[in-house]
Amino acid sequence: MRILIVDDDPVLRQILQTYMSRAGYDVALAENGQAALDIWERETIRLVITDWMMPVMDGPELIRRIRAVSAPAYTYIIMLTAKESKGDVIYGLEAGADDYLTKPFNTGELRARVKIGERILNLENRLNQTLQQMEELATLDSLTGLLNRRALYTHAEAELSRSRRDRNPVSLMMLDIDHFKQVNDRHGHLIGDKALRLIADTLKVNKRPYDWAGRWGGEEFLLVLPNTDESVAVTIAERMRLQILDTHLSVATGVLQLNASFGIASTASGLGLSASTSELYHLDNLVARADEALMQAKELGRNRVCVFRSNDLA
Ligand code: GH3
Ligand code: MG
Ligand code: MG
Repeated sequence: MRILIVDDDPVLRQILQTYMSRAGYDVALAENGQAALDIWERETIRLVITDWMMPVMDGPELIRRIRAVSAPAYTYIIMLTAKESKGDVIYGLEAGADDYLTKPFNTGELRARVKIGERILNLENRLNQTLQQMEELATLDSLTGLLNRRALYTHAEAELSRSRRDRNPVSLMMLDIDHFKQVNDRHGHLIGDKALRLIADTLKVNKRPYDWAGRWGGEEFLLVLPNTDESVAVTIAERMRLQILDTHLSVATGVLQLNASFGIASTASGLGLSASTSELYHLDNLVARADEALMQAKELGRNRVCVFRSNDLA
């Protein structure tokens, strides 16, 4: 672990560096609070040992400056100072120090206190990992690893309001696997699940980095395509359709070929729209249009891309 040692006394800095390096730490040095703050802002440093009295910026001020930043990870700070009255200890801790040691110090004690800091930082790391896992559980579909419907909805809403603000088009691509019930009926649910994962992977690989792809429900997927007008959305959907046609799933009886139908709806449709702008930018309306186009693709024989036309809803 990298630690930052802050002291204006070069001899003490050297001693601390030697000692902490021997103890296995990667040490950065600073001769005052300002120099320390510069390093702390530039690098990932989670543990700081700082003196109190230093020119330019003293220890308590350094600590207050670090605490004022809402950094993603906590910095554990130990004050190491000749100031030893109860009042000083209280002042140092109130400035935001986690621990307080007085000079002259016992190296074994310093080491033990640094270990306490490490334990606390490790706890924080574990807590953050758990939070991240929980966030993933809450936003991702467990079968496919794509966004779940709720997360997709949130991203779609955000893209729609951005697109309205920036006057850039956004398109939705709704796709539904064709005759998927037969896959389950003939080959069982496990193969059905495998097919869903395969299609999801195809979407993941072929979408652009800034597109949002999610599982809308059962065997239905939705892609949100920012900055994309209708004709580009159709091109993307055609590419996806061919990629899906190209995915083969091995089953006991041979190889299964999958195909899907696509419905496209865009805030910038090629044809004149009867809808008002606010109607158009309402996510539910746009989803209904993509759904409508998808239904048309099914009716026309499946394995194709259809675009919503305003008279579809007549
Ligand atoms: P169409 O071409 O008209 O879309 O026909 P379809 O058979 O694909 O559509 P239908 O809506 O009749 O059937 C969808 C099937 O998808 C039924 C359901 O059991 C299956 N399904 C939904 N979610 C899952 C899942 O998570 N795993 C598996 N294996 N099957 C699922
Ligand atoms: Mg289907
Ligand atoms: Mg369906």
